[in-house]
Amino acid sequence: MRLSWIAPLIGLSLLGLSELGLSDPAWAGKLIYWKFNTALGRVELITDDGVQPTAMLLANPARVVIDLPNTSVAKSKQRIRKNLTKYVREVRVKQFDRETTRFVIELAPQVTVAPSDVKVRNLSPSRWFVQLPNFLPINTVSPQATPSVAIDVPPAGGTGESRRGQGIKLPPPRPPIAANPEDGPPTPSPDVSPPPSQPASAPSTPIRRGSIVVAIDPGHGGRDPGAVGINGLQEKVVVLSVGTQVAELLRKKGVNAVLTRSSDREIDLEPRVAMAARVKADVFVSIHANAISMSRPDINGLESYYYASAKGYKLARSIHNRILSATNVRDRGIRQARFYVVRRTTMPAVLLELGFVTGREDAVRLASASHRTKLAEAIAQGILDYFK
Ligand code: ZN
Repeated sequence: MRLSWIAPLIGLSLLGLSELGLSDPAWAGKLIYWKFNTALGRVELITDDGVQPTAMLLANPARVVIDLPNTSVAKSKQRIRKNLTKYVREVRVKQFDRETTRFVIELAPQVTVAPSDVKVRNLSPSRWFVQLPNFLPINTVSPQATPSVAIDVPPAGGTGESRRGQGIKLPPPRPPIAANPEDGPPTPSPDVSPPPSQPASAPSTPIRRGSIVVAIDPGHGGRDPGAVGINGLQEKVVVLSVGTQVAELLRKKGVNAVLTRSSDREIDLEPRVAMAARVKADVFVSIHANAISMSRPDINGLESYYYASAKGYKLARSIHNRILSATNVRDRGIRQARFYVVRRTTMPAVLLELGFVTGREDAVRLASASHRTKLAEAIAQGILDYFK
């Protein structure tokens, strides 16, 4: 389907474990989170450390089997979920043997699927997605022909020895990764270049109190910690703290700020976007923190993403510049990307990656209350700048 954009992910994931040389078989990770996202038709899973899954397509009944070697799963996370969608009959997660956690995605009897339809991808060595096709149009290849077919899985970083010789080099700035696989490859774009259609800046108009609605979207939450970094720093905690402060600051300025979540709860992407539409938000600001690999503490900095609109770019630039001048976080650029929340929102939208929870500099800052407050003040100010 979209193999072209797996390449940068492989480059990304070659970092990390190989540098730590975690080839000791006694070393085992844990599955800390998994979920079947019904709307997107995919399994998302997070382990506490890197893992190299294998995947197969088996017949009778047609099922996708994903094994996580050297990974254990707590009893409480071993579950069977039934009748998830019209096409997915069941997802099972269990400790398959002493060293392997196994996911089984059993498809409905009428479904046929080819191994190439199933995409296994990683955002980092510890964060994997298994994307099922949307089953329309009907696939013509059936696994019935062969009892077991391997599904391609990109390398997660390997086990030290085998990859050590390959020469690990710093990748280009982390490629933007679509939050929604349906969104396809992110549009490569040079940093900080405004879209061609950007209009000349409008004459500044005073803000009419109470007339502006801003949706603030702290990412992740609940069972989904988001990125987990140095000293166990969790993205969901950082972004909730910053997001709630942004909302408070905006309200003091007479802006109607609406939070997609104001507590530690799990919420899918669709309801976030739907909420912004329901409250008729003028802009949507999604707040995240980044991660690359625990073995790359040297990668730090702010990234701001927008999707294909001049207004989105303007919003990103306003906030990005305010954060850079208020803090000494490194600048990793304003970028265009097809993240679900910025693509599906109807209003100008931005997704901020405030820094790397895996970064030596950023993790310390993101853990600090005073830095979070500075970030919140800068984001609020940047939003106000946009409306001027
Ligand atoms: Zn995030």
